[in-house]
Amino acid sequence: MQKYSIFSLARNALSGHKNWTRAWKSPPLRDRYEVIIIGAGGHGLATAYYLAKEHGITDVAVLDRGWLGGGNIARNTVTIRSNYLRDESIPFYVKSVSLFEGLTKELNFNMMHSKRTMIDVVHNYPKMRELRRRQLTMDIYNSTYDNISTEEVRRRVPALTGGGPGSRLPVIGGMVHTDAGVNRHDAVAWGYARAADSHGVEMHEQTPVLSLIRGSDGAISGVQTSRGVVHAKKVVVAVSGHTTTLTETAGLRLPLRTMNLTAFVSEPVKPLVDVIVNCPDLGFYFSQSDKGEMVIGGAPDSGQSFRRDIKQHVFEDTVGAMLELFPSFKKLKLLRQWGGHLDITHDASPIMDETDVPGLFVTAGWWGGYKAIPAGGLTLAHHVATGRPHPLMEKFTVKRFKNLDFIMETGTTTAR
Ligand SMILES: Cc1cc2nc3c(=O)[nH]c(=O)nc-3n(C[C@H](O)[C@H](O)[C@H](O)COP(=O)(O)OP(=O)(O)OC[C@H]3O[C@@H](n4cnc5c(N)ncnc54)[C@H](O)[C@@H]3O)c2cc1C
Repeated sequence: MQKYSIFSLARNALSGHKNWTRAWKSPPLRDRYEVIIIGAGGHGLATAYYLAKEHGITDVAVLDRGWLGGGNIARNTVTIRSNYLRDESIPFYVKSVSLFEGLTKELNFNMMHSKRTMIDVVHNYPKMRELRRRQLTMDIYNSTYDNISTEEVRRRVPALTGGGPGSRLPVIGGMVHTDAGVNRHDAVAWGYARAADSHGVEMHEQTPVLSLIRGSDGAISGVQTSRGVVHAKKVVVAVSGHTTTLTETAGLRLPLRTMNLTAFVSEPVKPLVDVIVNCPDLGFYFSQSDKGEMVIGGAPDSGQSFRRDIKQHVFEDTVGAMLELFPSFKKLKLLRQWGGHLDITHDASPIMDETDVPGLFVTAGWWGGYKAIPAGGLTLAHHVATGRPHPLMEKFTVKRFKNLDFIMETGTTTAR
Protein backbone atom coordinates (compact mmCIF):
# COMPACT_ATOMS: atom_id res chain seq x y z
CA MET A 1 0.00 0.00 0.00
CA GLN A 2 1.40 3.37 -0.98
CA LYS A 3 2.28 5.32 2.16
CA TYR A 4 0.46 8.63 2.53
CA SER A 5 2.55 11.28 4.29
CA ILE A 6 3.70 14.88 4.02
CA PHE A 7 6.70 13.58 2.03
CA SER A 8 4.63 11.58 -0.48
CA LEU A 9 2.37 14.61 -0.88
CA ALA A 10 5.37 16.85 -1.60
CA ARG A 11 6.93 14.28 -3.95
CA ASN A 12 3.71 13.88 -5.91
CA ALA A 13 3.13 17.62 -6.04
CA LEU A 14 6.44 17.93 -7.92
CA SER A 15 5.15 15.52 -10.60
CA GLY A 16 1.76 17.23 -10.91
CA HIS A 17 0.00 14.49 -8.87
CA LYS A 18 0.18 12.14 -11.87
CA ASN A 19 2.01 9.26 -10.16
CA TRP A 20 -0.26 8.31 -7.28
CA THR A 21 -1.11 4.60 -7.36
CA ARG A 22 -4.80 3.71 -7.47
CA ALA A 23 -6.31 3.41 -4.01
CA TRP A 24 -7.94 0.08 -4.95
CA LYS A 25 -7.72 -2.08 -8.08
CA SER A 26 -10.48 -3.29 -10.42
CA PRO A 27 -9.67 -6.96 -11.09
CA PRO A 28 -11.96 -9.17 -13.21
CA LEU A 29 -14.81 -10.79 -11.25
CA ARG A 30 -14.09 -14.47 -10.59
CA ASP A 31 -16.81 -17.10 -10.19
CA ARG A 32 -15.71 -18.31 -6.74
CA TYR A 33 -14.40 -16.77 -3.50
CA GLU A 34 -14.01 -17.95 0.06
CA VAL A 35 -16.19 -15.10 1.32
CA ILE A 36 -18.54 -12.73 -0.52
CA ILE A 37 -19.53 -9.49 1.18
CA ILE A 38 -22.55 -7.73 -0.32
CA GLY A 39 -22.36 -3.97 0.20
CA ALA A 40 -19.31 -1.70 -0.01
CA GLY A 41 -20.52 0.59 2.75
CA GLY A 42 -18.84 1.05 6.09
CA HIS A 43 -19.80 -2.32 7.58
CA GLY A 44 -19.02 -4.37 4.48
CA LEU A 45 -15.62 -2.77 3.93
CA ALA A 46 -14.62 -2.90 7.61
CA THR A 47 -15.58 -6.59 7.76
CA ALA A 48 -13.47 -7.26 4.65
CA TYR A 49 -10.49 -5.42 6.12
CA TYR A 50 -10.56 -7.20 9.49
CA LEU A 51 -11.12 -10.60 7.82
CA ALA A 52 -7.89 -10.04 5.93
CA LYS A 53 -5.89 -8.33 8.63
CA GLU A 54 -6.94 -10.24 11.74
CA HIS A 55 -7.68 -13.67 10.26
CA GLY A 56 -5.60 -13.86 7.08
CA ILE A 57 -8.72 -14.48 4.95
CA THR A 58 -8.01 -12.56 1.76
CA ASP A 59 -9.98 -14.52 -0.85
CA VAL A 60 -12.83 -12.06 -0.39
CA ALA A 61 -14.99 -10.14 -2.88
CA VAL A 62 -16.96 -7.06 -1.84
CA LEU A 63 -19.81 -6.49 -4.30
CA ASP A 64 -21.73 -3.23 -4.55
CA ARG A 65 -24.58 -2.34 -6.83
CA GLY A 66 -23.36 1.26 -7.09
CA TRP A 67 -20.07 2.88 -6.24
CA LEU A 68 -18.01 2.14 -3.17
CA GLY A 69 -19.04 4.30 -0.21
CA GLY A 70 -22.10 5.68 -2.01
CA GLY A 71 -24.78 4.39 0.38
CA ASN A 72 -25.70 5.57 3.84
CA ILE A 73 -22.08 6.01 4.78
CA ALA A 74 -22.11 8.98 2.40
CA ARG A 75 -25.41 10.28 3.80
CA ASN A 76 -25.01 10.38 7.54
CA THR A 77 -24.18 13.11 10.03
CA VAL A 78 -21.04 11.35 11.33
CA THR A 79 -21.84 11.47 15.04
CA ILE A 80 -19.76 8.98 16.99
CA ARG A 81 -20.70 8.26 20.61
CA SER A 82 -21.12 5.49 23.18
CA ASN A 83 -23.86 6.88 25.44
CA TYR A 84 -26.20 3.90 25.27
CA LEU A 85 -28.33 2.32 27.99
CA ARG A 86 -27.77 -1.43 28.05
CA ASP A 87 -24.89 -3.61 29.26
CA GLU A 88 -25.00 -5.41 25.90
CA SER A 89 -24.54 -2.19 23.91
CA ILE A 90 -22.19 0.11 25.81
CA PRO A 91 -18.97 -1.99 25.65
CA PHE A 92 -19.51 -2.54 21.92
CA TYR A 93 -19.80 1.21 21.23
CA VAL A 94 -16.93 2.04 23.62
CA LYS A 95 -14.75 -0.28 21.53
CA SER A 96 -15.97 1.30 18.31
CA VAL A 97 -15.26 4.85 19.50
CA SER A 98 -11.76 3.84 20.59
CA LEU A 99 -11.08 2.14 17.24
CA PHE A 100 -12.23 5.32 15.45
CA GLU A 101 -9.71 7.32 17.45
CA GLY A 102 -6.85 5.19 16.12
CA LEU A 103 -8.15 4.71 12.59
CA THR A 104 -6.08 7.41 10.86
CA LYS A 105 -2.91 5.64 11.96
CA GLU A 106 -4.23 2.12 11.47
CA LEU A 107 -5.34 2.76 7.87
CA ASN A 108 -2.79 5.49 7.01
CA PHE A 109 -5.68 7.65 5.85
CA ASN A 110 -6.62 11.01 7.35
CA MET A 111 -10.03 10.53 8.97
CA MET A 112 -10.15 14.18 10.11
CA HIS A 113 -11.26 12.76 13.44
CA SER A 114 -12.42 15.39 15.89
CA LYS A 115 -13.20 14.26 19.43
CA ARG A 116 -15.36 17.18 20.34
CA THR A 117 -17.88 16.17 23.04
CA MET A 118 -21.66 15.89 22.80
CA ILE A 119 -23.98 17.94 24.97
CA ASP A 120 -27.54 16.69 25.52
CA VAL A 121 -29.95 19.53 26.24
CA VAL A 122 -32.69 18.29 28.58
CA HIS A 123 -36.19 19.70 29.11
CA ASN A 124 -38.04 17.24 31.34
CA TYR A 125 -37.37 15.25 34.50
CA PRO A 126 -38.25 11.76 33.19
CA LYS A 127 -35.66 12.25 30.42
CA MET A 128 -33.13 13.53 32.95
CA ARG A 129 -33.73 10.43 35.11
CA GLU A 130 -33.24 8.18 32.07
CA LEU A 131 -29.98 9.91 31.18
CA ARG A 132 -28.74 9.64 34.78
CA ARG A 133 -29.53 5.93 34.62
CA ARG A 134 -27.49 5.68 31.44
CA GLN A 135 -24.69 7.54 33.21
CA LEU A 136 -24.53 4.94 35.99
CA THR A 137 -24.34 2.02 33.54
CA MET A 138 -21.86 3.85 31.32
CA ASP A 139 -19.63 4.46 34.36
CA ILE A 140 -19.17 0.71 34.70
CA TYR A 141 -17.78 0.53 31.16
CA ASN A 142 -15.61 3.68 31.31
CA SER A 143 -17.77 5.73 29.01
CA THR A 144 -18.04 9.37 30.05
CA TYR A 145 -21.39 10.98 30.87
CA ASP A 146 -21.75 13.85 33.31
CA ASN A 147 -24.63 15.99 34.46
CA ILE A 148 -24.29 19.79 34.02
CA SER A 149 -26.46 22.72 35.02
CA THR A 150 -28.52 24.85 32.63
CA GLU A 151 -26.02 27.71 33.13
CA GLU A 152 -23.16 25.41 32.12
CA VAL A 153 -25.10 24.21 29.06
CA ARG A 154 -25.59 27.83 27.99
CA ARG A 155 -21.94 28.70 28.70
CA ARG A 156 -20.76 25.85 26.49
CA VAL A 157 -23.32 26.46 23.75
CA PRO A 158 -23.70 30.26 23.58
CA ALA A 159 -26.02 30.10 20.54
CA LEU A 160 -28.62 28.39 22.76
CA THR A 161 -30.66 31.48 23.64
CA GLY A 162 -34.16 29.90 23.59
CA GLY A 163 -35.67 27.54 26.17
CA GLY A 164 -35.70 30.17 28.94
CA PRO A 165 -37.83 29.95 32.12
CA GLY A 166 -40.91 31.52 30.46
CA SER A 167 -40.76 29.41 27.29
CA ARG A 168 -42.86 26.41 26.24
CA LEU A 169 -40.06 23.96 27.08
CA PRO A 170 -37.54 25.47 29.51
CA VAL A 171 -34.10 23.84 29.59
CA ILE A 172 -33.56 22.13 32.97
CA GLY A 173 -29.96 20.92 32.51
CA GLY A 174 -27.76 18.79 30.33
CA MET A 175 -25.40 15.85 30.01
CA VAL A 176 -21.85 15.93 28.65
CA HIS A 177 -20.38 13.00 26.73
CA THR A 178 -16.71 13.87 26.18
CA ASP A 179 -15.96 10.70 24.18
CA ALA A 180 -18.23 11.80 21.33
CA GLY A 181 -16.77 13.03 18.05
CA VAL A 182 -17.12 13.40 14.32
CA ASN A 183 -14.93 12.52 11.36
CA ARG A 184 -15.04 12.28 7.59
CA HIS A 185 -17.39 9.56 6.31
CA ASP A 186 -15.82 9.21 2.84
CA ALA A 187 -12.43 8.70 4.44
CA VAL A 188 -13.78 5.79 6.49
CA ALA A 189 -15.03 4.01 3.37
CA TRP A 190 -11.99 4.83 1.27
CA GLY A 191 -9.53 4.08 4.07
CA TYR A 192 -10.97 0.63 4.77
CA ALA A 193 -11.24 -0.11 1.02
CA ARG A 194 -7.62 0.86 0.33
CA ALA A 195 -6.30 -1.14 3.27
CA ALA A 196 -8.44 -4.20 2.41
CA ASP A 197 -7.24 -4.00 -1.21
CA SER A 198 -3.64 -3.99 -0.04
CA HIS A 199 -4.30 -7.36 1.66
CA GLY A 200 -5.71 -8.83 -1.59
CA VAL A 201 -9.45 -8.25 -1.03
CA GLU A 202 -11.29 -7.46 -4.30
CA MET A 203 -13.81 -4.64 -4.61
CA HIS A 204 -16.37 -4.88 -7.43
CA GLU A 205 -18.50 -1.80 -7.97
CA GLN A 206 -21.55 -1.69 -10.30
CA THR A 207 -22.24 -5.32 -9.41
CA PRO A 208 -25.75 -5.61 -7.97
CA VAL A 209 -26.63 -8.84 -6.23
CA LEU A 210 -30.05 -9.89 -7.50
CA SER A 211 -30.60 -12.90 -5.25
CA LEU A 212 -28.95 -15.26 -2.79
CA ILE A 213 -28.44 -18.90 -3.84
CA ARG A 214 -28.81 -21.88 -1.51
CA GLY A 215 -27.40 -25.34 -2.19
CA SER A 216 -29.34 -28.63 -1.98
CA ASP A 217 -28.32 -28.86 1.72
CA GLY A 218 -30.01 -25.51 2.41
CA ALA A 219 -26.73 -23.73 3.10
CA ILE A 220 -25.70 -20.62 1.20
CA SER A 221 -23.75 -21.44 -1.96
CA GLY A 222 -23.39 -18.09 -3.71
CA VAL A 223 -25.11 -15.09 -5.21
CA GLN A 224 -26.73 -14.21 -8.52
CA THR A 225 -25.34 -10.89 -9.72
CA SER A 226 -26.03 -8.84 -12.83
CA ARG A 227 -22.65 -10.14 -14.05
CA GLY A 228 -23.37 -13.83 -13.43
CA VAL A 229 -23.32 -16.32 -10.57
CA VAL A 230 -20.53 -16.06 -7.99
CA HIS A 231 -20.02 -18.94 -5.56
CA ALA A 232 -18.98 -18.82 -1.91
CA LYS A 233 -19.71 -20.90 1.17
CA LYS A 234 -19.85 -17.77 3.30
CA VAL A 235 -21.86 -14.70 2.32
CA VAL A 236 -22.22 -11.53 4.39
CA VAL A 237 -25.19 -9.23 3.75
CA ALA A 238 -24.14 -5.67 4.67
CA VAL A 239 -26.57 -3.61 2.62
CA SER A 240 -28.11 -1.38 5.29
CA GLY A 241 -31.72 -0.41 4.34
CA HIS A 242 -31.95 -3.15 1.69
CA THR A 243 -31.35 -6.19 3.90
CA THR A 244 -34.81 -7.73 3.66
CA THR A 245 -35.04 -7.36 -0.12
CA LEU A 246 -32.02 -9.67 -0.33
CA THR A 247 -32.60 -12.07 2.56
CA GLU A 248 -36.14 -12.77 1.38
CA THR A 249 -34.68 -14.19 -1.86
CA ALA A 250 -33.25 -16.98 0.31
CA GLY A 251 -36.58 -17.52 2.05
CA LEU A 252 -35.39 -15.77 5.20
CA ARG A 253 -37.63 -13.25 6.95
CA LEU A 254 -36.02 -10.85 9.42
CA PRO A 255 -37.67 -8.54 11.98
CA LEU A 256 -36.60 -5.35 10.22
CA ARG A 257 -38.45 -2.43 8.70
CA THR A 258 -36.95 0.22 6.49
CA MET A 259 -37.38 3.88 7.37
CA ASN A 260 -36.28 7.16 5.86
CA LEU A 261 -33.88 9.35 7.86
CA THR A 262 -32.89 12.80 6.66
CA ALA A 263 -30.36 15.53 7.25
CA PHE A 264 -29.57 18.97 5.93
CA VAL A 265 -26.76 21.54 6.07
CA SER A 266 -26.67 25.31 6.19
CA GLU A 267 -24.34 27.60 4.33
CA PRO A 268 -20.90 27.84 5.99
CA VAL A 269 -20.66 30.36 8.82
CA LYS A 270 -17.92 31.40 11.25
CA PRO A 271 -17.19 29.04 14.18
CA LEU A 272 -20.32 29.01 16.35
CA VAL A 273 -20.40 25.69 18.23
CA ASP A 274 -17.47 23.43 19.03
CA VAL A 275 -19.51 20.50 20.40
CA ILE A 276 -22.22 18.21 19.02
CA VAL A 277 -25.56 19.44 20.37
CA ASN A 278 -28.31 16.87 20.89
CA CYS A 279 -31.85 17.84 21.90
CA PRO A 280 -33.60 14.50 22.54
CA ASP A 281 -36.86 16.02 23.80
CA LEU A 282 -37.28 18.14 20.68
CA GLY A 283 -35.89 15.54 18.26
CA PHE A 284 -32.94 17.23 16.56
CA TYR A 285 -29.16 17.43 16.81
CA PHE A 286 -26.39 19.28 15.01
CA SER A 287 -22.67 19.96 14.81
CA GLN A 288 -20.60 22.40 12.80
CA SER A 289 -18.44 20.97 10.05
CA ASP A 290 -14.83 21.98 9.45
CA LYS A 291 -16.09 24.04 6.51
CA GLY A 292 -18.46 25.92 8.84
CA GLU A 293 -21.77 24.36 7.74
CA MET A 294 -24.27 23.47 10.43
CA VAL A 295 -24.96 19.74 9.90
CA ILE A 296 -28.46 19.10 11.22
CA GLY A 297 -30.39 15.87 11.70
CA GLY A 298 -33.85 15.06 12.99
CA ALA A 299 -36.00 12.06 13.79
CA PRO A 300 -36.84 9.47 11.10
CA ASP A 301 -40.07 9.60 9.19
CA SER A 302 -42.24 7.18 11.15
CA GLY A 303 -43.69 5.42 8.09
CA GLN A 304 -41.89 2.57 6.32
CA SER A 305 -40.23 3.84 3.18
CA PHE A 306 -37.36 3.44 0.74
CA ARG A 307 -37.31 7.12 -0.21
CA ARG A 308 -34.00 8.94 -0.22
CA ASP A 309 -35.24 12.51 -0.24
CA ILE A 310 -36.65 14.49 2.65
CA LYS A 311 -40.36 14.79 3.48
CA GLN A 312 -41.44 18.40 3.88
CA HIS A 313 -43.23 17.85 7.21
CA VAL A 314 -40.20 16.07 8.73
CA PHE A 315 -38.02 18.95 7.61
CA GLU A 316 -40.44 21.56 9.01
CA ASP A 317 -40.75 19.71 12.35
CA THR A 318 -36.97 19.62 12.73
CA VAL A 319 -36.45 23.27 11.75
CA GLY A 320 -39.36 24.40 13.97
CA ALA A 321 -37.92 22.57 16.98
CA MET A 322 -34.44 23.93 16.34
CA LEU A 323 -35.57 27.54 16.07
CA GLU A 324 -37.28 27.27 19.45
CA LEU A 325 -33.90 26.81 21.08
CA PHE A 326 -31.66 28.53 18.53
CA PRO A 327 -33.70 31.49 17.22
CA SER A 328 -30.66 33.10 15.59
CA PHE A 329 -30.42 30.14 13.19
CA LYS A 330 -33.40 31.51 11.27
CA LYS A 331 -30.92 33.72 9.43
CA LEU A 332 -29.05 30.68 8.09
CA LYS A 333 -29.57 29.72 4.47
CA LEU A 334 -30.14 26.07 3.63
CA LEU A 335 -27.41 24.66 1.41
CA ARG A 336 -28.56 21.06 0.80
CA GLN A 337 -30.84 18.38 2.15
CA TRP A 338 -30.93 14.63 1.62
CA GLY A 339 -32.10 11.33 3.08
CA GLY A 340 -31.14 7.69 3.40
CA HIS A 341 -32.83 4.52 4.51
CA LEU A 342 -32.18 2.46 7.56
CA ASP A 343 -33.48 -0.97 8.45
CA ILE A 344 -34.55 -0.81 12.05
CA THR A 345 -35.36 -3.61 14.50
CA HIS A 346 -38.12 -3.39 17.10
CA ASP A 347 -35.64 -2.85 19.93
CA ALA A 348 -33.42 -0.41 17.94
CA SER A 349 -30.39 -2.70 18.44
CA PRO A 350 -28.53 -4.34 15.56
CA ILE A 351 -28.59 -7.89 14.27
CA MET A 352 -25.10 -9.31 13.68
CA ASP A 353 -25.36 -13.00 13.32
CA GLU A 354 -25.16 -16.13 11.22
CA THR A 355 -28.76 -16.70 10.15
CA ASP A 356 -30.84 -19.89 9.95
CA VAL A 357 -29.33 -20.31 6.47
CA PRO A 358 -25.90 -21.85 7.23
CA GLY A 359 -23.06 -19.65 5.94
CA LEU A 360 -25.29 -16.59 5.53
CA PHE A 361 -24.31 -13.74 7.86
CA VAL A 362 -26.19 -10.50 8.32
CA THR A 363 -25.17 -7.16 9.76
CA ALA A 364 -28.29 -5.01 9.88
CA GLY A 365 -30.66 -3.01 12.04
CA TRP A 366 -28.21 -0.14 12.27
CA TRP A 367 -30.13 2.92 13.35
CA GLY A 368 -26.98 4.85 14.16
CA GLY A 369 -24.62 2.48 12.47
CA TYR A 370 -21.88 4.86 11.39
CA LYS A 371 -20.40 4.95 14.87
CA ALA A 372 -20.49 1.15 14.90
CA ILE A 373 -18.45 0.56 11.75
CA PRO A 374 -15.04 -0.33 13.25
CA ALA A 375 -16.37 -2.58 16.02
CA GLY A 376 -19.03 -3.98 13.69
CA GLY A 377 -16.39 -4.97 11.12
CA LEU A 378 -13.97 -6.32 13.71
CA THR A 379 -16.50 -8.50 15.51
CA LEU A 380 -18.38 -9.75 12.46
CA ALA A 381 -15.08 -10.72 10.81
CA HIS A 382 -14.32 -12.75 13.95
CA HIS A 383 -17.66 -14.55 13.67
CA VAL A 384 -17.26 -15.26 9.94
CA ALA A 385 -13.67 -16.47 10.34
CA THR A 386 -14.02 -18.58 13.49
CA GLY A 387 -17.68 -19.60 13.39
CA ARG A 388 -18.08 -18.23 16.92
CA PRO A 389 -19.61 -14.86 17.79
CA HIS A 390 -17.25 -12.29 19.23
CA PRO A 391 -18.04 -11.61 22.93
CA LEU A 392 -18.76 -7.93 22.14
CA MET A 393 -21.58 -8.78 19.74
CA GLU A 394 -22.78 -12.19 20.86
CA LYS A 395 -26.08 -10.76 22.19
CA PHE A 396 -27.04 -9.10 18.90
CA THR A 397 -28.58 -12.32 17.59
CA VAL A 398 -31.60 -12.90 15.37
CA LYS A 399 -33.05 -15.39 17.82
CA ARG A 400 -33.49 -12.75 20.53
CA PHE A 401 -36.73 -11.82 18.74
CA LYS A 402 -37.99 -15.41 19.02
CA ASN A 403 -37.11 -15.50 22.73
CA LEU A 404 -38.39 -11.95 23.40
CA ASP A 405 -34.91 -11.23 24.75
CA PHE A 406 -34.84 -7.64 23.52
CA ILE A 407 -31.98 -5.15 23.96
CA MET A 408 -34.15 -2.06 24.22
CA GLU A 409 -32.28 1.02 22.98
CA THR A 410 -35.26 2.89 21.56
CA GLY A 411 -34.81 5.92 23.83
CA THR A 412 -31.15 6.37 22.97
CA THR A 413 -31.74 7.42 19.36
CA THR A 414 -33.25 10.60 18.00
CA ALA A 415 -37.00 10.04 17.90
CA ARG A 416 -40.03 12.06 18.72
C1 LIG B 1 -29.50 11.09 7.27
C2 LIG B 1 -28.75 10.06 8.07
C3 LIG B 1 -28.00 10.46 9.18
C4 LIG B 1 -27.32 9.51 9.94
N1 LIG B 1 -26.53 9.95 10.97
C5 LIG B 1 -25.80 9.06 11.68
C6 LIG B 1 -24.94 9.52 12.72
O1 LIG B 1 -24.81 10.72 12.97
N2 LIG B 1 -24.24 8.58 13.42
C7 LIG B 1 -24.36 7.25 13.16
O2 LIG B 1 -23.73 6.45 13.85
N3 LIG B 1 -25.13 6.79 12.14
C8 LIG B 1 -25.86 7.66 11.40
N4 LIG B 1 -26.65 7.22 10.36
C9 LIG B 1 -26.75 5.78 10.10
C10 LIG B 1 -25.58 5.23 9.28
O3 LIG B 1 -25.36 6.02 8.14
C11 LIG B 1 -25.89 3.80 8.86
O4 LIG B 1 -26.35 3.05 9.96
C12 LIG B 1 -24.65 3.10 8.32
O5 LIG B 1 -24.01 3.88 7.36
C13 LIG B 1 -25.09 1.77 7.70
O6 LIG B 1 -24.01 0.96 7.39
P1 LIG B 1 -23.17 0.99 6.02
O7 LIG B 1 -22.26 2.15 6.04
O8 LIG B 1 -22.58 -0.35 5.87
O9 LIG B 1 -24.35 1.18 4.93
P2 LIG B 1 -24.28 1.72 3.44
O10 LIG B 1 -23.25 2.76 3.25
O11 LIG B 1 -25.68 2.03 3.05
O12 LIG B 1 -23.76 0.42 2.65
C14 LIG B 1 -24.60 -0.54 2.07
C15 LIG B 1 -24.16 -0.75 0.64
O13 LIG B 1 -24.90 -1.84 0.11
C16 LIG B 1 -25.10 -1.60 -1.27
N5 LIG B 1 -26.21 -2.45 -1.74
C17 LIG B 1 -27.52 -2.37 -1.40
N6 LIG B 1 -28.20 -3.35 -2.02
C18 LIG B 1 -27.31 -4.06 -2.76
C19 LIG B 1 -27.41 -5.18 -3.62
N7 LIG B 1 -28.56 -5.79 -3.87
N8 LIG B 1 -26.27 -5.63 -4.22
C20 LIG B 1 -25.07 -5.03 -4.00
N9 LIG B 1 -24.93 -3.97 -3.18
C21 LIG B 1 -26.03 -3.48 -2.57
C22 LIG B 1 -25.40 -0.10 -1.35
O14 LIG B 1 -25.13 0.41 -2.64
C23 LIG B 1 -24.45 0.46 -0.28
O15 LIG B 1 -23.23 0.93 -0.83
C24 LIG B 1 -27.37 8.13 9.59
C25 LIG B 1 -28.08 7.73 8.46
C26 LIG B 1 -28.76 8.68 7.70
C27 LIG B 1 -29.52 8.23 6.49
